[in-house]
Amino acid sequence: MIDEIVISKAITETFYKEFLDNLESDVIICGAGPSGLCAAYYLGKAGIKTVVLEKSLRPGGGLPGGGMMFNKIVIQQESKSILDELGVKTTHYKDNYHTASSLETLSLLLSKAIQQGVGIYNCINAEDVMIVDEKVTGVVINWTAAELARLHVDPLTMRSSYVVDATGHDAELAQVISRKSGAQLLTPTGKVVGEKPMWADKGERDLIDNTKEAFPGLYVTGMAANAVFGGPRMGPIFGGMLLSGKKVAGLILDRLKNE
Ligand SMILES: Cc1cc2nc3c(=O)[nH]c(=O)nc-3n(C[C@H](O)[C@H](O)[C@H](O)COP(=O)(O)OP(=O)(O)OC[C@H]3O[C@@H](n4cnc5c(N)ncnc54)[C@H](O)[C@@H]3O)c2cc1C
Repeated sequence: MIDEIVISKAITETFYKEFLDNLESDVIICGAGPSGLCAAYYLGKAGIKTVVLEKSLRPGGGLPGGGMMFNKIVIQQESKSILDELGVKTTHYKDNYHTASSLETLSLLLSKAIQQGVGIYNCINAEDVMIVDEKVTGVVINWTAAELARLHVDPLTMRSSYVVDATGHDAELAQVISRKSGAQLLTPTGKVVGEKPMWADKGERDLIDNTKEAFPGLYVTGMAANAVFGGPRMGPIFGGMLLSGKKVAGLILDRLKNE
């Protein structure tokens, strides 16, 4: 016999046990696009307690849509080893260009991150950061549904040693720091510089340089990095997103090791 209340208890108890444990972690990544998920995978693999918050029902950001909903992605040679490690099938197109299924890439990024112990929460919006003594110490969270319905509901908080803004073009966390606290970001202008028009080659190269700390305790990765430090957009080539996620994981690992 299947009992409805047992099902409800199983979901509620299992969710909250894990959620309570994840209220404090080493790293919170906001945004489950390709850069955020790749960072989560490498941090989890290194044994770092990592949480990913995703405001949408469906994780993946711009990844599953590929280019104009053709669900293929292009990656360059330099990033192929990441997809190889995840077990994603790639097809050689021509020198330095490989293609892969955007859906297989997303499903393997997600499942490998979860298998490394990363806690991934969809439908949770990171609406603000906590700043204590001029350092980001966590995020302020609420159900996306509360935001969408504009409900007057107070949020909760999650604490971590480091926070990663992987929220894509809008760089939501860097924006909120700049807007709310008036604090200076670690950019040439002290503010979010803003994304530049499409230039795939430069965009991909800048993305790696721009993957760094943008405010004490807050790192930026993926399109958020180019938005914050002012790099061009690059369209549906995803190698830079994966390399940026891997780089931010390495930077944070070094910081945690040296503490
Ligand atoms: C609509 C659209 C426009 C695109 N435009 C461009 C472009 O102009 N240039 C370009 O190079 N590529 C563009 N792309 C292609 C490509 O999808 C992105 O470059 C790539 O997906 C960026 O990866 P990312 O990891 O930086 O962020 P994304 O794939 O954008 O993922 C960010 C994730 O963060 C989540 N998120 C955002 N804010 C919060 C928050 N506060 N709390 C929790 N979660 C949050 C989002 O729901 C999303 O899932 C676009 C894709 C889409 C779908």
